[in-house]
Amino acid sequence: MTNSDTAFRNEVSAWLEANCPVSMRTRMVPEEAVNGGNRRRGTNADAYLWLDRMAARGWTAPTWPRVYGGAGLDKDAYVILMAELQRLGARPPLGGMGITMLGPTLLEFGTDAQKARHLPPIARGETAWCQGYSEPGAGSDLASLATHAEDRGDHFLVNGAKIWTSGAQHADWMFCLVRTDRAAPKHRGISFLLIDMTTPGVTVRPIRMINGASPFCQTFFDNVVVPRDNLVGALNDGWTVGKRLLQHERSGLAALASADTAGPMDRIRPALPMPELARQYGNAGIEPELRQDLIDNAMLRAALLLTQRRTLEESAAHTPGAATSIFKYVEANYVKEQLELQLRIRGTAGLGWSGDDFDADALDKCRLWLEAKSISIAGGSNEIQLNIIARRVLGLPD
Ligand SMILES: Cc1cc2nc3c(=O)[nH]c(=O)nc-3n(C[C@H](O)[C@H](O)[C@H](O)COP(=O)(O)OP(=O)(O)OC[C@H]3O[C@@H](n4cnc5c(N)ncnc54)[C@H](O)[C@@H]3O)c2cc1C
Repeated sequence: MTNSDTAFRNEVSAWLEANCPVSMRTRMVPEEAVNGGNRRRGTNADAYLWLDRMAARGWTAPTWPRVYGGAGLDKDAYVILMAELQRLGARPPLGGMGITMLGPTLLEFGTDAQKARHLPPIARGETAWCQGYSEPGAGSDLASLATHAEDRGDHFLVNGAKIWTSGAQHADWMFCLVRTDRAAPKHRGISFLLIDMTTPGVTVRPIRMINGASPFCQTFFDNVVVPRDNLVGALNDGWTVGKRLLQHERSGLAALASADTAGPMDRIRPALPMPELARQYGNAGIEPELRQDLIDNAMLRAALLLTQRRTLEESAAHTPGAATSIFKYVEANYVKEQLELQLRIRGTAGLGWSGDDFDADALDKCRLWLEAKSISIAGGSNEIQLNIIARRVLGLPD
């Protein structure tokens, strides 16, 4: 480590110690998460203090250029900042699709005007974004999407519907894939638009999930006028932009970039360490088969985190390409296995929906166990990740 690295580490450490509120050094509570925008406020005021302080330093988006609300950190400085955040057990100051997905994509493909307009409010946590990709007839085969945008010169006229749009009911903006050329081969007739959710003709209808929550919606477009300035990348080349955004989504690096105190990997941890949980539920010696499965699962988590960290460091703090599908696939399997293990330990005492017969952690994990069924579907199913790994990472023939 150079002298300037040491000086930076000392500066970061002192600043975080002085500025990270005590309640932001604890495990993330989902209701307290800040995902941008004002339409859904987190329940802890400290989270907004933490966000504002971090945003003022550019540390909600540490590697983005200063002019766009970042801190312009190089790879080494970024890794130091992450390590110090982790040492403190600090929560990420800002999550959501703006900072983790759209921001990095706009940096790569946006015009100067689009970057200047959207990136600073994203970095300050002022706007919430949602993703309009899937449609009833286009999920894994996303390029079959039919939502149409008619080119009217200075604007597009959008008609159609999207489904499973997470957080659309709270979002200010949507990044959206639309068909702009019906005659072209399907991957070449798609464009990437930014749509203001308050535009007349946009309607959002929440959908209820198996765990009782409504995290996503169906979103309808009825003659929605979208200014041409909101086209990202070239007309009919939206597939290139949209695919790159998926790599940011699948990387899981957003959670890693802070103290891994957000995201599915942390939320699923039981209140007690697994061996203690097993003892609490009467499995004092922990049967050998369960013990082996616990060890395998813990090793999977450790290997994933180390691989993500190595990849991040090697890629100069930028999201890597198709290899992100490996992270997405392994993380989905880890999360599902981990929750199955907790259920195995708790037995029927882990299958509670509500009521005093179940402890709070068991109730929470039962709903997460149900919710986790979706993790190997959301963001592209496991089978699709395996297809990408086979073709794009291993170079196997189609
Ligand atoms: C919790 C959650 C949140 C989501 N949030 C969003 C969001 O914010 N925005 C958004 O646009 N979408 C979102 N989605 C949608 C998600 O991207 C799709 O559900 C996913 O891409 C799968 O598409 P599908 O549901 O149409 O399933 P289908 O594509 O119909 O797939 C059905 C089954 O067939 C398998 N299959 C399909 N094609 C192949 C193939 N070529 N090879 C092997 N197997 C195949 C799939 O793996 C799957 O098991 C979300 C989904 C979930 C569950």
